[in-house]
Amino acid sequence: MAFHGAGRQTVGDLFPGSELGHKYFCVNSSCGAPSTGLSATPCLTGPTAPAGTPRHPTALGGSAGGGAAVPQPYSNPASEVPSPAEMEPDRPIGYGAFGVVWAVTDPRDGRKVALKKMPNVFQNLVSCKRVFRELRMLCFFKHDNVLSALDILQPPQIDCFEEIYVITELMQSDLHKVIVSPQPLTTDHIKVFLYQILRGLKYLHSAGILHRDIKPGNLLVNSNCLLKICDFGLARVEEPDPSRHMTQEVVTQYYRAPEVLMGCRHYGSAIDVWSVGCIFAELLGRRILFQAQSPIQQLDLITDLLGTPPLSALSAACEGARAHILRGPHKPPSLSVLYMLSDGATHEAVHLLCRMLVFDPTKRISGSDALSHPYLDEGRLRYHTCMCQCCYSVPSGRVYTRDFEPVAERPFSHSYENSMLSVWQGKELIHRFITEHQQGKRVPLCINPQSAAFKTFIRSTAWHSSKVSRKEER
Ligand SMILES: [Zn+2]
Repeated sequence: MAFHGAGRQTVGDLFPGSELGHKYFCVNSSCGAPSTGLSATPCLTGPTAPAGTPRHPTALGGSAGGGAAVPQPYSNPASEVPSPAEMEPDRPIGYGAFGVVWAVTDPRDGRKVALKKMPNVFQNLVSCKRVFRELRMLCFFKHDNVLSALDILQPPQIDCFEEIYVITELMQSDLHKVIVSPQPLTTDHIKVFLYQILRGLKYLHSAGILHRDIKPGNLLVNSNCLLKICDFGLARVEEPDPSRHMTQEVVTQYYRAPEVLMGCRHYGSAIDVWSVGCIFAELLGRRILFQAQSPIQQLDLITDLLGTPPLSALSAACEGARAHILRGPHKPPSLSVLYMLSDGATHEAVHLLCRMLVFDPTKRISGSDALSHPYLDEGRLRYHTCMCQCCYSVPSGRVYTRDFEPVAERPFSHSYENSMLSVWQGKELIHRFITEHQQGKRVPLCINPQSAAFKTFIRSTAWHSSKVSRKEER
């Protein structure tokens, strides 16, 4: 596979065919290799925020340095090591809920980027709406901890339009690979990761978006520990009407909130916070917190830790789930075992964890409130001292942004979905959206279907597509 310029009169000479185009596809050598991908993480063992540094954003806001002893910027040893990337063949780097992702090189600037193929777009109206929603979200997001679209490949004529390709920033690894790797994961790492997860989540929730599949594999990280939430294949807009039913087919089981496990027909952003709580515990203990074989066992493991929930927490549960819990023995909470996750499980850590892992979603802490917890102060300071795009350094110190955890400028709108009444109409809408999205921007890119790499890409995609189809049928 290769990119070649879509407008032949402008870029055809640069990328005329498969042979030339092929060489523009390079894989980042660290992709899919966690031990390499995070080789730079020991940078986090550098100076830590001293005790007594400002804990609330406003204490840091707007000051140049502010007198706070700030950590030194991270070095990035990975950038000093010659990369053998050009020697590697292209290869897939991940399979999302819906779609395949490849590491490629943008021929316009040589930048390594991720190319995501969204398959089966026009199979039926449901998949059409789902893909359009994800596409619009990727173009809507403007936040450093949320993956967004850098570009969309130019679609062919509408009669031949079957697939959508989106270009996003390429990240080197994800939190799942980091957790299962032998690399050290210090308290500093955990704090800066958790801070960024919640920072991204606050933004998503402020836009009215539920992610619905927060798990370590959907949290991309690069070598300097920058983290981005990705894969919006299951995301949707929050449903304000509690009488409207929502699907239960969401969230990978280990990270699924009790209200979803119990079949509640309506749920909200608290399901994402539960998932973050599970990931927080997994970062501390480096093993999955609730690793069950079935949804019922999943619920049992949760009640083993939290104790039998009060009746008030079961009001929205389906009859079978409520009966299962009431039929079982009364369990006392055993939250003290959380202290045994690791040495990093301090009072502060366990306190925050216990605010996230609350059975009753109405009593669970919100993503926004969790950011105010003292456990995240050092993560905030570290992030805004040398990782963020929102603050900057001047000779006299650091100039901090006014808003450390910004919200979305406006809610994400999904009103367009109501006007999509047929697959053909959806195709027209998506085609027009991509074309308009590209207008006036950079030289458009498209796929070169004649290249050898593209055929490999298609084969892996076809294999994955059959899995996706089965998933959608359920
Ligand atoms: Zn900042």
